[in-house]
Amino acid sequence: MRFSDSPELEQWRAAVRGFVDANWRRPGDVTDFDEFNELEGDEARRQRWLDKLAENGWLAPAWPKKYGGADMSVLEQFVLSQELHRAGAPVSRQMLNLVGPTIMLHGTDEQKAEHLPPMLRGEVAWCQGFSEPGSGSDLASLQTRAVRDGDDYVVNGQKIWTSGAHKADWMFILVRTDPDAPKHRGISYLLLDMKSPGVSVRPLVNLADTHIFNEVFFEDVRVPARNRIGEENRGWYVGTTTLDFERSNIARAVQARKSVDRLAGYVRDRAKGGNPVSADYRIEVAERAVETSICELLSFEVVSVQARGGVPNMEASMNKMYGSELSQRLAYTEMHVTGMAGQYRRATGLAAEHRIQAASDYMTTVPATIAAGTSEIQRNIIATRGLGLPRG
Ligand SMILES: Cc1cc2nc3c(=O)[nH]c(=O)nc-3n(C[C@H](O)[C@H](O)[C@H](O)COP(=O)(O)OP(=O)(O)OC[C@H]3O[C@@H](n4cnc5c(N)ncnc54)[C@H](O)[C@@H]3O)c2cc1C
Repeated sequence: MRFSDSPELEQWRAAVRGFVDANWRRPGDVTDFDEFNELEGDEARRQRWLDKLAENGWLAPAWPKKYGGADMSVLEQFVLSQELHRAGAPVSRQMLNLVGPTIMLHGTDEQKAEHLPPMLRGEVAWCQGFSEPGSGSDLASLQTRAVRDGDDYVVNGQKIWTSGAHKADWMFILVRTDPDAPKHRGISYLLLDMKSPGVSVRPLVNLADTHIFNEVFFEDVRVPARNRIGEENRGWYVGTTTLDFERSNIARAVQARKSVDRLAGYVRDRAKGGNPVSADYRIEVAERAVETSICELLSFEVVSVQARGGVPNMEASMNKMYGSELSQRLAYTEMHVTGMAGQYRRATGLAAEHRIQAASDYMTTVPATIAAGTSEIQRNIIATRGLGLPRG
């Protein structure tokens, strides 16, 4: 089977590429994914680019135009995402794709007007307050308590692994409002101003020596009840609203394809230079190439379910599990193939010429199989919801 764009999608892809060439690339740029990592410091450029996306409605392509979106079809979103990832361009503002669609679907008109425009303009940063020390995979067991007091909720408890909390203006948080109800039915979804008295943020530094996530503590924090999204005690169902735009997760397949292409180029050049990579490692690269094709097919499957109006479930779990595990296997293969040269945080010599950053990929892909639902949880979903296998 061969996959190709319809004539309309082909045109759309050309338009997106033209836009990327005009607005993201600079003369002489190496146009790949890692470019963005290297430009982390270039915040102004990043913001200018995101503003351009926002102007076109491309930061929230699935949203209605009146809220700053672009009303795009599923396939148009897929092509947009594919091309932006290929170019190594930033695709979103932090958490926009998580909290935005939730407010869009479940928020009141006032909440939409208050929160969506500044979110698209990048004027506010958000963080996600879901996980707790005792509640990660079993999120519905969360204990952070919110008690109604007049027009406010009073929040007490703790969240953990909260990415970006140290820079966030707002948190979307799941809290327990009815401790006596069955666990899924006693949860509410609130928007919490991080500047509220009683909020404290403590950093957690990860394996790669980077400060991304945090612990967040709440001591008698008052949250106006008008900041609740959806009904009281129905927050679980609000919280499970997920993003439309990135469900296909083409990013992983695009990144895997780039890694395999780079590795193959590196192995060829080593052979040309009279220093061939061992046969075992060449076979490893071939295996990763096959797996990358599978990863692409899984992304296509997800988007094809969406394009038919369905909600990908098992397909999304297969894609998430396979893509995240592949990213780790690819990093191991990069380590094997590049040897000592790849052990530096930034690769050097021939590896660097091929833009392979083995050590960095090795460390940064560790959390891929944990964040957003662990591989075990994805396997459970595939087994039970997908294949109808018995639980336990
Ligand atoms: C990089 C990163 C960023 C994150 N950012 C955020 C964030 O911004 N906000 C936020 O709220 N959370 C965030 N998280 C937390 C993330 O959602 C949780 O780590 C994840 O859901 C797993 O929960 P846990 O860490 O409590 O592990 P646990 O749920 O305690 O799991 C421990 C182990 O047990 C396994 N396990 C658990 N239950 C089952 C089961 N039923 N069957 C089989 N195996 C099982 C798991 O797979 C895992 O291997 C982030 C995590 C990472 C790694």
